[in-house]
Amino acid sequence: MSIFEDRVAFITGAGSGIGRAVALKLAAEGAKVVCSDINGQTALETVALAEELGATAIAVVLDTSDEEAMKEALAKTRGDLGRLDVFMNNAGVGGKDWETTTSVNLDGVYYGLIHACPIMADQGGGAVVNTSSIAGLGGLMWAEDYHKNTELVGSLSAYVASKHGVVGMTKQFAVAFGKAGVRVNAICPGYIETPIITTLRGPEGMDFLRSLHPMGRLGFPQEVAEVAAFLASDAASFVTGAAVPVDGGYTAR
Ligand code: NAD
Repeated sequence: MSIFEDRVAFITGAGSGIGRAVALKLAAEGAKVVCSDINGQTALETVALAEELGATAIAVVLDTSDEEAMKEALAKTRGDLGRLDVFMNNAGVGGKDWETTTSVNLDGVYYGLIHACPIMADQGGGAVVNTSSIAGLGGLMWAEDYHKNTELVGSLSAYVASKHGVVGMTKQFAVAFGKAGVRVNAICPGYIETPIITTLRGPEGMDFLRSLHPMGRLGFPQEVAEVAAFLASDAASFVTGAAVPVDGGYTAR
């Protein structure tokens, strides 16, 4: 029997990068996957890839910063598929202003938690994995010296504040829902080869980012998905409230 057989998983930001890799990993392990993204086209592409793996997969257009839409999508998932076992609270943005960054990375993650956890508690348990970042564990190096670039410092501050907030919410929801059988953990990826990074940095910038990781390279979405899937699985049955680095040693320095 596959690890996620008969389980229903809802993934936000499933149209690209880490979210897509997690959706496909869970699909490959037997889960029914609800692939949500603000971009309906890319969500459909992920669904097609999941179906190639033999999974039941559904695309949902969802802007995670819209609380009513989040509430409705999660309730509909339980209504249509009968359960909500795994919630991958992953959608996020980088390189944006304070308002945009916090509304997606902080408010959106909160909306996911506040509406997914009670559904899971009501059905007797479940697992949430929030996508934080190395930016949830410390400040970010982006270039050798960038303090004069106020816009950049502001954008990174919003990102770092939001990702620290994700770690904080992970701990709070883990504590609140522990006895209800809902485990809540966070993954903290280092720099990963996804559009959020590659579109923001030129080749020189990518070299700088590689140099920050003791392993001398960026990570791949599949390497993050492996850890997320572990946290979402019964193998992690006594793990909750953790913020797990997946960072090639970035935070070990
Ligand atoms: P990505 O850009 O490849 O994917 C992000 C996805 O989220 C996209 O499909 C996008 O359409 C979707 N999205 C954006 N805003 C949304 C919204 N309001 N509602 C729903 N979907 C929305 O980037 P990624 O690297 O896969 O990022 C996924 C998560 O990982 C983010 O939370 C990001 O902050 C985090 N993260 C990324 C890295 C990295 O280096 N790539 C490192 C640490 C953490």
